[in-house]
Order: sequence, then C-alpha cells, then structure tokens
Amino acid sequence: MLQIAIDGPSGAGKSTVARALAAQLGCIYLDTGAMYRTVGLMARRAGLDTHDDAALAAMLRDADIQVRLTEEGQRMLLDGEDVEGLIRTPEVSMAASDVAVCPSVRRLLVAKQQEIAASNDVVMDGRDIGTHVLPDAQYKFFLTASPEVRAMRRFDELRDKGQAVAYDDVLEDVKRRDEQDTTRKESPLTRAADATEVSTDDLNADEVVQVIMALMGRF
Ligand code: C5P
Repeated sequence: MLQIAIDGPSGAGKSTVARALAAQLGCIYLDTGAMYRTVGLMARRAGLDTHDDAALAAMLRDADIQVRLTEEGQRMLLDGEDVEGLIRTPEVSMAASDVAVCPSVRRLLVAKQQEIAASNDVVMDGRDIGTHVLPDAQYKFFLTASPEVRAMRRFDELRDKGQAVAYDDVLEDVKRRDEQDTTRKESPLTRAADATEVSTDDLNADEVVQVIMALMGRF
C-alpha cells in the first residue's frame, strides 16, 4: 500500500495540500484532525473535562465514531450523526487539542487510522503520522509556516465560512495549540527524522503540491 504522511502545525496548509495530492495520485485522503475534533465535540457536549483521560475513556467505550470517505470528501459520523459542519469552530479546535493529550483517545484513533491505511493507498495528515501512525510510510513531509501566516490562513477560512472572529484571537489560539501539541507527553508534534520539511510561508497550496510531487519524483 502507498502511504504518504503529511504532518505539521495547524494552518500550515496540510489539509488542502493532502487533499490535492490524494486526488492527483488516486489515493484516499484521511484528515486525522477531524477525528480528534469529533472526540472534542463529544466531550464538550457531555460536559466533560477535556483533559480527563479516565472520563474520556469511559465516554469512548460507548461511542460510535466513524469516518465516511465519500467522493466529495470525508464526513465524520458521531453515533450516526453527521457532525462535519460542527467540528471546525475555535471552541472545538481547542477541545480537540485538549483531548489529543489523552493516551486513551490517541490509542483508539491511531488504531482506526492504521486500519484504514492497511487496506487503502492513503495520504494522511496530522501531527504524529510520520512518527507514530505510519512510521514506515514511503513518503513523509513536514509542513511549516510562521504562526502569523498560519493564523491569517485560519482567519480567512473562518471568515469565509461566515464565522465572526478577530485575527488576534485566532493567532492566540494557534499559539496555544502549538504549545500544547508540541509539549504533550504522548506523541508530541515533531518532525520525523526521515521527513522532508517544506516551508509554506511564501507558497500557495498549488505550489506546495508541485514541490511535494517534485520531491516524490512524480511531476
Ligand atoms: O489538524 P487539526 O487542526 O484539525 O487538528 C485538531 C487538533 O487535533 C490538533 O490541534 C491536535 O492537537 C490534534 N491532532 C493530533 N494528532 C493528529 C491530528 C490532530 O493530536 N494526528
């Protein structure tokens, strides 16, 4: 199976790039952040402390979290409900980063991700794909950009969706999530030793795809 791992902090352009790469290569695209977001949404709805590993583990024992891969893209299903439209808010972003610290959450989601990769050619994006989920992936890339550029991308994205947000708040969120994602004990965000770093500060998504295709020798 072909496995391509794309990691990096939020707003580095991973999902746009991974989706385009998957389309060009005829692979499926798996957005693993959406899975953590779904758990974050569920914890918020249940009124749980999003850092409480034992409470989250108990919640997940009865949960049915499914990834539906359609022609139009990935949809997250929570107990049969399509929650795709509910998991991109700033509140759920922070809850996702919180629950992602918890070992029982990571164990469950990583197992699901590995199961999907076992039977599909896949481009997978996240924080720990190259380091933990697919350590033997044939290609690994680590996308970076400054916090300010990443916050501006998120800000534009949220505004396009009609969400009223202030740039400074988005920048603050980006920095808080970076801090939590890079310093957590379990699978912190870090570049795998064999991943190629691509700085996206001065590149648009099409250009990043071209760079990656060239690095893979497939342009
Ligand atoms: O990629 P996205 O911003 O949607 O991810 C939301 C949160 O989920 C991240 O801030 C991170 O804490 C967590 N995450 C993770 N491991 C992954 C994907 C996402 O810890 N593979």
